[in-house]
Amino acid sequence: MAYPEPLKERFRRGLEEIRAAGLYKQERILHGPQDVRVEVEFPAGELPRPVINLCANNYLGLSSHPRVLAAARAGLEARGYGMSSVRFICGTQDLHRRLEERLTGFLGTEDTLLFPSCMDANAGVFEALFGEQDVLIADRLVHASIVDGMRLAKAQTDTYKHSDMGHLEEKLAEHLDKRARVVVTDGVFSMDGDLAKLDEIVALAEKYDALVFVDDSHATGFIGARGRGTHEAKGVLGRVDLLTTTLGKALGGASGGCVSGRSELVETCRQRARPYLFSNSVPPVIVAAALEVLDLIEESTARRDRLEENTRLWRRLLVEAGFDVKPGESPIVPIMLYNARLAQDFARDLFEEGVFVVGFFFPVVPKGQARIRTQVSAGHERAHLERALEAFVAVGRRHGVLGLGKREIVERFGA
Ligand SMILES: *Cc1c(COP(=O)(O)O)cnc(C)c1O
Repeated sequence: MAYPEPLKERFRRGLEEIRAAGLYKQERILHGPQDVRVEVEFPAGELPRPVINLCANNYLGLSSHPRVLAAARAGLEARGYGMSSVRFICGTQDLHRRLEERLTGFLGTEDTLLFPSCMDANAGVFEALFGEQDVLIADRLVHASIVDGMRLAKAQTDTYKHSDMGHLEEKLAEHLDKRARVVVTDGVFSMDGDLAKLDEIVALAEKYDALVFVDDSHATGFIGARGRGTHEAKGVLGRVDLLTTTLGKALGGASGGCVSGRSELVETCRQRARPYLFSNSVPPVIVAAALEVLDLIEESTARRDRLEENTRLWRRLLVEAGFDVKPGESPIVPIMLYNARLAQDFARDLFEEGVFVVGFFFPVVPKGQARIRTQVSAGHERAHLERALEAFVAVGRRHGVLGLGKREIVERFGA
């Protein structure tokens, strides 16, 4: 028998265990386009209800922007639907090269290579560039796709405590005997919303003759005065050797990613990175729309400025209302609840109140660090945020967490 009963039973049991541990991920179904207000069916089978969206990576509100849609339509008409090929066979159009050049200019690097996603960029970049004699030294909170990419590489790996520059320096000194040292970090950390100390990281890397790798997926398009990313915000434009980022967040939110950086490194990825060589080209529709997104971003900083204002307002409203908000400057604004059950109940009650957020708990964040992660968009109007706050306050009162800090919440609810 092809699918014997004991095997089937094993997977059934595995799924039950996920449910029993409270870790089963139930998907919310959106009826209509991604936006700051969405119609969400949840749980499955319920009538969709209109909610304010505070959990999308739609930082600049471009996912359904009319100019982006128009560019996608024009791209579709002019260049067709699919490339039916990987890049190096017959999957590269002039548009793909133009987008790579535009990204290079925007990111302030030497060259750029598109990947089907940033997950793929991270899966390919380390294996293509580094071998057994090299060491990758990563911040302990880097994104899962970087962890996987490092696993795929033959290079040695090590980690340093999150944003702990003293610890990083120790590691750099310890690995001075390696052929190459690479410091690996996210630009903006996805669960906490804090920025990497890239100025200090670059200085240490220069001192210890190391390369710097940054995944700027939660920064490209809006962090820094012109939205060029964490390296712009920290004053180290041009001094990051390798950068990966996504088109799937602020830059229109469809899909696609890239490796950008020193030209020999990027060129080597073009020759050797397996997800680049063995997966299909980014479709022309997305490439055409991404070019328009870069036009929009480079024409004016109004959207990223608006996002910054919205972020400041949202943080201030939450703190004044008595929530325990993780401090920071990015539009990722985590409201700490510490207890996993509480975070889940809180998100469910907010949904009832018309606000769409998701509770995060172990294993996505460390045990005892459960939270609601909110994400602000340039598309939010003041009224959306004020309305969302009312809901937060109502639910916060119901659970009795307003004005409480970590110690009190943990005493009352457990960690
Ligand atoms: C979202 C994200 C990715 C994955 O990007 P995709 O293009 O969706 O694969 C990779 N790295 C980080 C840091 C991210 O936040």
